[in-house]
Amino acid sequence: MLTESDITHRLIVGFEIHVQLATRTKLFCNCAVEYGATPNSRVCPVCLGLPGALPVMNREAFESSVLTGLALNCRIATRTKWDRKSYYYPDLPKNYQISQYDMPLAHDGHVDIASNGGARRVRIIRAHLEEDAGKNIHDVPGCTLVDLNRTGTPLLEIVTEPDIHSADEAYAFCTQLQRLVTYLGVSHGNMQQGQMRFEPNINVAITARGAECRTPISEVKNLNSFKAVRGAIEYEHRRQVQDWRTDPGYVIKERPNENRGWDDDRGVTVFQRGKEAAHDYRYFPEPDLVPVEVDESWLASVRARLPELPAARSARLINDHALPPEDVSVIVSDQATADLFDAALAAGGSATTLTKHFVNIWAPLAGDHDASVGTLGVAAEHLGRLAGMVDDGTVSATAAKQIAERMVDSPDAPEALAESMGLVAVQDTDQTRVWVDEAFAANEQAVRDAVSNPKKSKKAAGFLRGQVMRISGGKANPKLTGELIEARLKEMSRG
Ligand code: ZN
Ligand code: MN
Repeated sequence: MLTESDITHRLIVGFEIHVQLATRTKLFCNCAVEYGATPNSRVCPVCLGLPGALPVMNREAFESSVLTGLALNCRIATRTKWDRKSYYYPDLPKNYQISQYDMPLAHDGHVDIASNGGARRVRIIRAHLEEDAGKNIHDVPGCTLVDLNRTGTPLLEIVTEPDIHSADEAYAFCTQLQRLVTYLGVSHGNMQQGQMRFEPNINVAITARGAECRTPISEVKNLNSFKAVRGAIEYEHRRQVQDWRTDPGYVIKERPNENRGWDDDRGVTVFQRGKEAAHDYRYFPEPDLVPVEVDESWLASVRARLPELPAARSARLINDHALPPEDVSVIVSDQATADLFDAALAAGGSATTLTKHFVNIWAPLAGDHDASVGTLGVAAEHLGRLAGMVDDGTVSATAAKQIAERMVDSPDAPEALAESMGLVAVQDTDQTRVWVDEAFAANEQAVRDAVSNPKKSKKAAGFLRGQVMRISGGKANPKLTGELIEARLKEMSRG
């Protein structure tokens, strides 16, 4: 029996992702794409698959797909076509799905992900456009209901190489992909509504006594939360190594690849079917749709629509303003927030203070309101000016937080709010000195540390500054306070 120390293993993960495009209408008909509408109220002869109904391609869906392909650094096919994928389920009444088989619209791209293991490149094999199926509903005992509103909704299917080697990397990849499609505006990326569905292909390369073998691949179907992606991958990693170690009759080639589902409540994957029973989809070219030709000038016009993407945006903020990367990731988390930051920066305030406000004040406030900073509804001008007020000592950092809370519901300028809330810092030196005296008298140990303990002096001085802010009810000018404390400590260390 091999022990843990005799073997090494390396996780291997690739992804298949379905992204629902944010078009107004479906892929091949004029029915509205609408979540939560009365069942079977957004259907027509085309998406119901009635005989004689003819599909017409949605140009916007195609353009969004090409835009995404470009953002994924893919090559865009100059000619692409549609295929029928035979598929017999009640949720797709045509009995086939219109998809793209051998000529996907985009191929051979990559995404660079940042994870704590450093940067990693995930290669994109292909991206193609296809229609979604409807929904089977199992709410009523003894029968299955079918809602065909979703049937025909445009989906962009993205397939990666198995370039991911940890659950953390998978998490980084999926969140980054969601951010990318929302920046591009091609999808709302709403996971709760199933607008992004992740299917990881997972196996493990195990090396024991110098020989490597690979466990069969599990494909975990339809994950619609990042937490589920992480959980399913971690679970499969453990399970596959465990199976290999404990099953004496383990012969890799006798084990088929599997489709599995994720049980969110129990935190386990569940066997669905072996892949040897995979359907023969009998793809053949769709006779009712013409192939799509992509010409250079049109492609150039789509390329011109590419916005500044999150990675480039992060790099710019980090380089131009020397901001910490982890703070920048909060700012660029969605396009509205990143745009708001740029606009606020132009309105005043230093990048450093504004960043602190975004990370420590605005992001938590937005979270309380189920919004992002960018959709919270606070004017960029006001955000910038609040940061500027902290920079010039008009208000303290503590006061800024209180003012910010008020700004969420008030159209008033931060200056007016500071005034009406009584938070404008006292600029009077004599008054500030009184507060400093009080803080020194009440905190003798901190004063001693600040004067004579080099290890603690900085922290003790900061503590005293905080005490002055507290005593003053947040009204002391932080800059002036700092100066007075420093002068007083210097005096004491001399005397
Ligand atoms: Zn329709
Ligand atoms: Mn698909």
